[in-house]
Amino acid sequence: MQENQCPKCQSELRWQKEGYHCDFCQIDFKKVAYCPDCNKEMEKLNACGAASYFCHDCNELKSKSRAKTEFSEIAIS
Ligand SMILES: [Zn+2]
Ligand SMILES: [Zn+2]
Repeated sequence: MQENQCPKCQSELRWQKEGYHCDFCQIDFKKVAYCPDCNKEMEKLNACGAASYFCHDCNELKSKSRAKTEFSEIAIS
């Protein structure tokens, strides 16, 4: 299973400076992590070289392995 898959065409996304890009759809995506407990968007923290997530609703850190990640389209203005 591919880890970084375009939600629209299922091809592999290409990493660019600030996000992911689908060459086929010409769309930019960002990876958004959701809290496993309350389903709110979490803030990504980079501590000690390991990424973890902080949920402002639960007010606690969540491990990366429990986070639900999803690709969200970045609207080009
Ligand atoms: Zn695509
Ligand atoms: Zn939460």
